[in-house]
Amino acid sequence: MSEHTPGPWNVCGADRGVCQCMTVLCSDYPIAKVVSGDWGDDYPAIRLTGYSTLDAKAEAYMAQMTYGRIDEKTAKANARLIAAAPDLLEALGDLIEDAEKQMANPSYHMPFSLPKAKAAIAKAESR
Ligand SMILES: [Zn+2]
Repeated sequence: MSEHTPGPWNVCGADRGVCQCMTVLCSDYPIAKVVSGDWGDDYPAIRLTGYSTLDAKAEAYMAQMTYGRIDEKTAKANARLIAAAPDLLEALGDLIEDAEKQMANPSYHMPFSLPKAKAAIAKAESR
């Protein structure tokens, strides 16, 4: 028995196209927040503040060592893949069950598991 939050999971705003927050939600609560933008390490740094050199003060702040960038298109694809995870897991389980039935009985066909697997992949790829 799976312990994960039951599906379906969806990307916030994916159907309505209004919100751009890329939060993966189940029907009741958020599952994951996918980020886009720069990524790297945060480190403490000192900067001088004030209107002139006479009232300059040292101020501690967090700076970021940037190593790369996750563009919004990639982040949306990541969020869609996470949201499709329960569907993919269930479809793969059905495929394995059908494959085992077919190995035991070669005349057995997979009437439902293949379309379900294709639908799960389509959801993950937003097709
Ligand atoms: Zn949102």
